[in-house]
Amino acid sequence: MDIPMLEITDLHVSVDNKEIIKGMSLNIGKGEVHVIFGPNGSGKSTLLNAILKLPGYSIDAGEIRIKSTNIQDMSTDEIANMGIGMSFQHPPKIKGVTLRNFLNTINRSKDLEDEILALNMERFLERELNVGFSGGELKRAEVLKLYAQSPDLLLIDEPESGVDIENIAVISKAINKILQKKAPEKLRTHSAIIITHTGHILNYIDADIGHVFIDGKIVYTGDPRSIMEDIKKYGFSGFIESVMHKRIEHERS
Ligand code: ADP
Ligand code: MG
Repeated sequence: MDIPMLEITDLHVSVDNKEIIKGMSLNIGKGEVHVIFGPNGSGKSTLLNAILKLPGYSIDAGEIRIKSTNIQDMSTDEIANMGIGMSFQHPPKIKGVTLRNFLNTINRSKDLEDEILALNMERFLERELNVGFSGGELKRAEVLKLYAQSPDLLLIDEPESGVDIENIAVISKAINKILQKKAPEKLRTHSAIIITHTGHILNYIDADIGHVFIDGKIVYTGDPRSIMEDIKKYGFSGFIESVMHKRIEHERS
């Protein structure tokens, strides 16, 4: 059996002494794409930040294992070097570092120049990283960064937020390429967590498993597309009620 990419067990995370992740577990296998749906403020970004152990996020209880290694005593750098890459919801601006410098430092891909063109980023190479970039440009730069890094586990935070349809199509294409979506399932080696508020990204990227995340916990796991349909219909507040209701009806019939 393949070793699992990510195992999270009964995780509790706090920020500023406030508990945000309230006991969640999640397993991601090699090549699997998971989507996490959740309302604003439920703690989705906190989860990704905690996996990378970014400063300010305190893991109070539970365990995170990456490729079977407990990350308890590891630094953010060491975690990233295990093949974990993040596309931020709100990427930091970095003055004094051009996009070109940055890409050259992290690049592991063989066809970066092609991808720069595909993502329409050639005009930005000599610009300071993310400084003055528009919403779509920020997301394209984030995804280009991921492409260069080609991590084994991609943490993608709300790729469609603040982005028009054209840009969503372009960045999704790049993400699908990293995820080797054209290769047979068994040969895919890259896994992902994609965070989404609307689920819209599922129209562009195929996911294997969906989770609904409310108030610091996963409250439901199932087929990503039917979750998206149910959330569209009932909203997050009505979701659980409607799912439970369906289940009871199903058991009766
Ligand atoms: P989501 O991504 O689901 O919208 P977040 O993880 O960004 O939710 O935020 C969850 C809660 O944690 C919010 O109440 C937010 O204010 C708080 N929070 C997250 N990051 C920080 C931080 N760096 N400093 C203070 N509060 C934070
Ligand atoms: Mg968020």
